[in-house]
Amino acid sequence: MTSNAEQIEPGWKRVAIRTLIKMLAVMAGSSKRRRAIAGLRVCSTDTELSFFTTTPNDPPDVVMLGIMRKVRDRSRTVCKDCGRPARVRLIGEDESVTQCTRCAAPALLRHEIWELDQSLRFLKAVGRPISASQIPPLLRPSFLQSIDPIDAEAVLKKAQMSLAQFIEWADGWHQIGEGLAVVH
Ligand SMILES: [Zn+2]
Repeated sequence: MTSNAEQIEPGWKRVAIRTLIKMLAVMAGSSKRRRAIAGLRVCSTDTELSFFTTTPNDPPDVVMLGIMRKVRDRSRTVCKDCGRPARVRLIGEDESVTQCTRCAAPALLRHEIWELDQSLRFLKAVGRPISASQIPPLLRPSFLQSIDPIDAEAVLKKAQMSLAQFIEWADGWHQIGEGLAVVH
């Protein structure tokens, strides 16, 4: 039925199968729907799964189009990797992906480590203690935990880290980021 089913992301296989079952259920007695199903193709991107037909002169009827619209909407709420509840996430400036929190974590973390690397030169040049608000959100808990308790109490209260300690802390994350990059 679909010649490229093996290209469907693993998390969306169940969504795809359920959609095909729905289509088969409405196929009986309609040669138009039968033709639509025979010409079905699947398109699986990073954000959604969609079905389309290869017969532009014989477009599917409203029922088939409704099913096809639903699978696209549904896939945008299901993790493409593991099938858990998910949403479309923006990773960095121009990359979107439909993933659950767990599956998205490595890419999000990698991006924040990259941001940290980018800010390092500027923060070194300024030369002042670093505040938690200057740290990307996922890395902030680690930053707060790493503030050296022997730093002046006033610094600790303002959740700041000395520049020297910050450079060391950021280097730790830089190395973790390189480890994450190797996985892909
Ligand atoms: Zn997932």
